[in-house]
Amino acid sequence: MGRSKKMPVVGRLIERRNNCVGCGYCCSKVVCILGFQKYGPNPPCPALVEHDGRFWCGLVENAKGMEKEELIAELAIDAGCTSSMFNNVRDSQIAKMKGKDENF
Ligand code: SF4
Ligand code: SF4
Repeated sequence: MGRSKKMPVVGRLIERRNNCVGCGYCCSKVVCILGFQKYGPNPPCPALVEHDGRFWCGLVENAKGMEKEELIAELAIDAGCTSSMFNNVRDSQIAKMKGKDENF
């Protein structure tokens, strides 16, 4: 679900808590099954890529067509953050994003 300026404050807070904000924490700590199959078990995952302060999955970024759609589904991209609690890296990312986007 995309962000909405009209969403009530509580709704925005819950949504923000659950969104992936691309801090890279999860993939720097644990390699997922797809990364494991390609690179082995040791974090940080070599597929992790960074653009303009936001981290992305390089396997998804470089895939095309159906393969890309399958990877997005397998990794549950857009389903929310897997590691939002006690995650200072994510909190810092949110603070940076708030500094860039007053509506965040
Ligand atoms: S393959 Fe992609 S989603 Fe999986 S750990 Fe590596 S960067 Fe993260
Ligand atoms: S820890 Fe959460 S916010 Fe950070 S990259 Fe992973 S899923 Fe996204």
